[in-house]
Amino acid sequence: MNCPRCKTTLNQKNYEKVMIDYCTGCGGVWLDAGEIQTIVENQGEAFSKAQITATLQAAKAGIPPSEIESVENCPKCSSGMTPMNYNYSSGIVLDVCQQGHGIWFDQGELERVQISFESWNKRSQEMRSSWSELVQQGMHEAHAAETTADLRFRKNLGPVGTAIDALLVWMKSRR
Ligand SMILES: [Zn+2]
Ligand SMILES: [Zn+2]
Repeated sequence: MNCPRCKTTLNQKNYEKVMIDYCTGCGGVWLDAGEIQTIVENQGEAFSKAQITATLQAAKAGIPPSEIESVENCPKCSSGMTPMNYNYSSGIVLDVCQQGHGIWFDQGELERVQISFESWNKRSQEMRSSWSELVQQGMHEAHAAETTADLRFRKNLGPVGTAIDALLVWMKSRR
């Protein structure tokens, strides 16, 4: 497989007990469907206070126009990937294959997703009721708007992906 950004051949390495594909050219990472869930749940990596602060401070909703204009192709099926703001407002914009093959992370984005997930996880335990209300509302509206492709995509990403994608669809329906 080649890097969707700089076309360098991707290498493999073990990260958080997952064999990930990474690019020595630009530092990006490709994760097959389902791998992101294993990585965020493992939480083996420790992040510095500075990394955590920087990630949380960069939180921002929406997709910048530059991300919509530059379309990267899935390294597996070559179809154009869709930009997705991880967890709706993390400010980390990932490229997702709508055929469900996986997700592309530019350099540093995977670590930022891990930080964002860990912080979200902690907060959601603190505010469990309001969060589940939000997800339920998102799921309900996603269900109303879903297509076969949406369904297949969510199924491949597993429960974490389901929550993410429900919010993505919900956000789109509000624009
Ligand atoms: Zn690259
Ligand atoms: Zn694909």
